[in-house]
Formats: sequence, C-alpha cells, structure tokens
Amino acid sequence: MPHQPITVSGVEVTPLCDAVGPMGAAIRRPLDEMFPGSGLQDEPWVLHFHCYLLRDAAGRLTLVDTGIGGHDSPASSWAPVPGTLAGELAAAGVTPAEISTVILTHLHSDHASGAVTDGGPAFENARYVLQQDELDAAKGAMLDQVVARIKDRLHVVDGDAEVAPGIHVHSAPGHTPGHQIARTGDLAMTGDLVLHPVQLADPSIRYLYDDDHEAAGRTRAEVLGGLRAERAILATAHFSEPFLRL
Ligand SMILES: [Zn+2]
Ligand SMILES: [Zn+2]
Repeated sequence: MPHQPITVSGVEVTPLCDAVGPMGAAIRRPLDEMFPGSGLQDEPWVLHFHCYLLRDAAGRLTLVDTGIGGHDSPASSWAPVPGTLAGELAAAGVTPAEISTVILTHLHSDHASGAVTDGGPAFENARYVLQQDELDAAKGAMLDQVVARIKDRLHVVDGDAEVAPGIHVHSAPGHTPGHQIARTGDLAMTGDLVLHPVQLADPSIRYLYDDDHEAAGRTRAEVLGGLRAERAILATAHFSEPFLRL
C-alpha cells in the first residue's frame, strides 16, 4: 500500500498500486516518440499502474479499473505482470466478493485484464460498467480472454450515467472509442485521458497509443479544461503520485 487514501464528499478513495515499472520492449519507444513534439528527454518512463477503490458512507464498494492481471494476462507481453491488485485490496481490508461495482475505463490490457481470474470474473458479485462504444470495438485477446468471461455481468452504458449512488461515468472517447472517466464529488479518475504530466501543461501533446489522435486531443483539452475550472482532483492511472489537484 504505497499510497494513502483520501476522503472526497464522504467517499473514501484508496489508490491501489497494481504495479510499477517500465513498458516492456514490445511497445517501448523513446519518450519523444511516445509523446511527439513534447521535447521530453529520453529517460526511462517508469509507470505506476493504479486502480482506485471507493467506499461510500454506506459501505458500498466500487473499483475503478482492474490492472494488468496475472502471468497469463493479455498485458504480459509488455507490462510487469503479475499485478498485485489482490494484495492491495487485502491490505485495504476488502475481499473481491465484497465489491459491487467495477468500472472499466477502457479495454486496454493494463486496465481491464484483472477483471478476470482463472477464466471467470475476478469480482463475482460485481457489475462491470463499460461503455457501449468500447464493447462494440472489443477484439482480440481482450474480447476472448476478458469480455467473453464477464459478459453475463456487464452493465453497458451509453454516455454519461450514475452507476452507483454518487458515482458517475462520463464518456471521454479518443484514447479508445469508448473510453470513460469516473467521478465522485470533485474527484475524477481519468483512466488514460492523460498518460504523462507533460499533457497537463499542453493537452495537445499526443500519445502514440491513442486510437484516434484528433479525438483524443480534443477530449483531453475539453475534459481537462472543465476539471481545471472546477479545481478538481485528478486520480490518474499512471502518474507516480496518484492524486493531483488542478
Ligand atoms: Zn503507485
Ligand atoms: Zn489505455
């Protein structure tokens, strides 16, 4: 448990540090190629892989993202598997069966692979919240090894929705077709809306692995602009410090 929880609008938010490490050689590029035009020095990019546990005043538990998964995960070709999500949850005093809602920001292998263990849902009593556009675009290992194994527990939404009391999702497409962020109070769990702090200073800086660079840049500028106007707290997936007030 390297990171401390905070409480926002009566909801305790615990960062779960699933992994820390560089991208594997399969997809690693110099930082100035990962973020074209950023001028970033080519130093090792050590990513944290964060999920977030939300516990509301009534004790209901929501998990935002599920991390990189086990040794057999679709992320195993490039991410430092196995993830330690189960241990992080245990350290927070939570068993997987107690979680009632799982929000998947998107179907990239470092965010959704931990949704499944041993070929079935890792959170057996949870609904898994996913955008319709993300489901429609699912393919390959993420379709076969993740979506197909949780399909009976999917809660598919289209756009903005309240998915648990006081917890909302908002469509934020571009990084993937159905990428979404999650909100509670003035906290925003941003998935891969931003990958690196350089994009906070300049949201027009692209990320090589955004699906649709134009849409991703537009969404990043719009959503960050709105969050900045309300001085929201970001809870990012990949920064080394999970929380950041704009
Ligand atoms: Zn971390
Ligand atoms: Zn992603």
